[in-house]
Amino acid sequence: MASDSQLDLFGASVSPSSGDHTASPPGQTVADPVNFDAIPLSASVPIAPGTYDSIEAMTQHCERCQRCGLSEGRTNAVIGRGNPNAPIVIIGEAPGQNEDEQGLPFVGRSGELLEKILASVQFSTDREIYICNVAKCRPPGNRNPTPAEINACKPYFLEQLRLIQPKIILLTGATAVKATIAEKRGITKIRGQWFEWEGYLCMPIFHPAYLLRNPSRETGKPKWLMWQDIQAVRRKFDELRLA
Ligand code: SF4
Repeated sequence: MASDSQLDLFGASVSPSSGDHTASPPGQTVADPVNFDAIPLSASVPIAPGTYDSIEAMTQHCERCQRCGLSEGRTNAVIGRGNPNAPIVIIGEAPGQNEDEQGLPFVGRSGELLEKILASVQFSTDREIYICNVAKCRPPGNRNPTPAEINACKPYFLEQLRLIQPKIILLTGATAVKATIAEKRGITKIRGQWFEWEGYLCMPIFHPAYLLRNPSRETGKPKWLMWQDIQAVRRKFDELRLA
């Protein structure tokens, strides 16, 4: 399936997929009316599992949500992109400036590198992959979301997973790890390992932004380790016959 030469794809130019079958673009309406009075404004008020029957309905709530202070600085709530029926979900931390402006997660250089990594094992956001973040609104100055902000937004993220029902989840970054498998060990210790969380098979992987800062492809370096990890994901995907 994959050959070592495909590692070269990490350095090639691959445009982010145009496939975006998820949240409605900002401003687009959906057919079903949404009861905005039902949005719990306080983070102390839970959002019950099963509240939403579609990602589009959840998106409309997120775009008006004020459950945490991140609502004050957002241009767009950033919900997700990719195939909403995908067997693999990639979870990041929170939107950055480009994501906030475009309303899509993992755009810009990190997103381009992520697309190259996925393409190296024939994965695409048109088919096998859906990408989202734990927090839907951009933290100021691109800081990490606080635990309170993560808790406020987590019900949306859980609803998203309930609606997609992936078989495999890839966790990029400390926030995604904290919000799910709650592993205290650092990413270099746990990357490439499989964990079970809420019935999902999860693997922590390096964040593409970290790989951009560590571009060497030498054996044992982060990019080489990512290559091992994404091949392991592909093998698991094939083993589970998720195609
Ligand atoms: S980050 Fe989440 S909880 Fe906070 S305002 Fe945005 S959608 Fe609401």
